[in-house]
Amino acid sequence: MEVPNFKIKSVEGIKLIPREERIKSIEKAGLNVFLLKSDEIFIDLLTDSGTNAMSQEQWSAIMKADESYAGARSFDNFKNSISKVTGFEFILPVHQGRAAEHILDQVLIEEGQSVLGNIHFDTTEAHIQHRKGIPVNCVIEEAFDCEKELDFKGNICLKKLEKLLEKNKENTAYVLHTVTCNSGGGQPVSMQNIREASELCKKFGVLFFLDAARFAENAFFIKQREKGFQNKSIAEIVLEMFSFADGCTMSAKKDAIVNMGGFIAFRKKELYEKCVPFGILFEGFPTYGGMSGRDLEAVAVGIKEGIQEDYLSYRIGQVKYLGEKLSEAGIPVMKPIGGHAVFVDGKKFLEHLPQEQFPAHTLAAELYIESGIRAVEIGTLLAGRDPETKENKMPALDLMRLTIPRRVYLQEHMDYIVEAMKKLKERKEKIKGLKFTFESPVLRHFWSKFERVK
Ligand SMILES: *Cc1c(COP(=O)(O)O)cnc(C)c1O
Repeated sequence: MEVPNFKIKSVEGIKLIPREERIKSIEKAGLNVFLLKSDEIFIDLLTDSGTNAMSQEQWSAIMKADESYAGARSFDNFKNSISKVTGFEFILPVHQGRAAEHILDQVLIEEGQSVLGNIHFDTTEAHIQHRKGIPVNCVIEEAFDCEKELDFKGNICLKKLEKLLEKNKENTAYVLHTVTCNSGGGQPVSMQNIREASELCKKFGVLFFLDAARFAENAFFIKQREKGFQNKSIAEIVLEMFSFADGCTMSAKKDAIVNMGGFIAFRKKELYEKCVPFGILFEGFPTYGGMSGRDLEAVAVGIKEGIQEDYLSYRIGQVKYLGEKLSEAGIPVMKPIGGHAVFVDGKKFLEHLPQEQFPAHTLAAELYIESGIRAVEIGTLLAGRDPETKENKMPALDLMRLTIPRRVYLQEHMDYIVEAMKKLKERKEKIKGLKFTFESPVLRHFWSKFERVK
């Protein structure tokens, strides 16, 4: 049993509103859980992004923050802390992960160039396309098999990567390896895979970056699963992971355990210098980059807490507990259980629904009605349309993600989630699929509305 490495000093009340009100709320939200109000929600598993509980050390650092426009002491704390954890010398602050993508893609992508990776996250893909680049996913085939138990299902297929680089290195803007692989179920990437992908990039003279949102969780899996790492500390593993990269983009809202923040880190000054003017244009002066001094301080402390082994052991253990309980109850979940979330196989759970009717998204709406729990679809709705044919993409995986915020919920909450899923299972045959009443043009999952298919 994994025991939390903290006790609770401050609490926020939550309330389960009656079923009739939940039905009214979700109808009003156009059957899209993104459009619910948080007061209508009992347990919020929409995302682990920015929903973390901060420590007393973070809150006290916030009180001492320096809000100077330029040259703030809080920036030095931010930079020094990140450099120590990642080994990168040049740190450009940004307000969140997608802002890092915005700036980096502005500098690195020319029209028609590809960005290769395991599976690009949705905002990453959208930013590449916004620059008229082509996002290419090269994850190993096994990643699309929900049942397959494999230690490092987030790995990039090195053969595929090599082939693409051989054929098209001039037209490759850079390679971006996402650790852990969020869109593939929070599955980790092995050190060997990071190293070999980096060696290929060196051979072909292509830049190699990590999308590091969940670098600490990835390091924990390496320690648990990869030969030769059992006796290394998480800090050492993290440094080694980053040592193979030219830099990273980071949404600090994940593994730096804060509510807002991010950065781009670079090994070389040249690339940093190229990004700075766009940082100033889009985000602000390079000693705050869209963050207040207090946000910088919270990251400076949080990124160190995020690599504590006893914290990670509780964190990954809690997700695993939920996944195993669901699996025991006969709920089809992605295996092995990933780092930040449990993924329910929508197509399998609602096997009577065609994929066009968004089974995993339907499941999320029904779970809310059943229990007040908010989960999120990572599947057909999120995948969007093919930019050429305008047809709906039909991804291999149509998943409902139960995402666990850091240091927020207890084991009792996990048990409540399991009970809710069991109740849904009993009435699943009667659940009707969904269709659009309004389809939003970009990142459509956030803003679209639905009705039930008759
Ligand atoms: C969250 C996330 C992003 C985007 O970060 P935001 O802070 O939400 O803008 C990029 N990549 C990955 C892997 C993420 O999980």
